[in-house]
Amino acid sequence: MSGRPLASVSLDVDNLWSYMKTHGDAGWEARPSYLDVFCPAALESLSRLNLRITFFLVGVDAEREDNHAPLRSLAAAGHEIGNHSHEHEPWLHLYTREQLEHEIATAEASIERATGQLPRGFRGPGFSWSPTLLEVLAARGYLYDASTFPTYLGPLARAYYFWTAKLSRAEREKRKALFGDFREGFRPLKPYHWRLGSGDRLLEIPVTTMPVLKAPFHLSYLLFLSRYSEGLMMAYLRTAIALCRATGV
Ligand SMILES: [Zn+2]
Repeated sequence: MSGRPLASVSLDVDNLWSYMKTHGDAGWEARPSYLDVFCPAALESLSRLNLRITFFLVGVDAEREDNHAPLRSLAAAGHEIGNHSHEHEPWLHLYTREQLEHEIATAEASIERATGQLPRGFRGPGFSWSPTLLEVLAARGYLYDASTFPTYLGPLARAYYFWTAKLSRAEREKRKALFGDFREGFRPLKPYHWRLGSGDRLLEIPVTTMPVLKAPFHLSYLLFLSRYSEGLMMAYLRTAIALCRATGV
């Protein structure tokens, strides 16, 4: 066997409140958390599978003392800690440079304080990103971004989301570019380097979607499929992995 890794695996640690906030559910402001349940369960599964992965953490969660022990346990088990923004708002593409700098720096400081690890990778909430975001990351010494989501199905995911969420007109306006448009599907599946306007380079590690079809198969999508049929979901996942192997993704 060669030493070349077959894949990179990551998990966005989206807390209970962030789902509630995105869906416009009341009570998210109290930041209800399930990290004390999630972190031990995730660590147990990963240790059984002998996997070390990247956890992308949210700054607001890292800020809270009562989350420190569960979050620190992820780093202590040898996993990489990444930055998943401070406020987990899936419309980073609407942020100005100043807002992005503040968002990333605040999250980074809280995450380092909570876990003892300085994040060097970033994933935008809801796969949101902008060229300015990439420049801010490069200027702060980040090694990679992992926010792009090469799928043609973004508009479909957005339609489903609007259909299931309870949102005011102003909230809908903010979310109107959520999950990107179909042209995201033309972006590469394999890692590559951005050449930024600032002259910097930044590694991009895209969210893996199914080769050729560019259909998503990240965890939230698999959970969505399994609501209809677990068998269908497993068959879909196996097809996706087989296509990745066949195309070297
Ligand atoms: Zn997230």
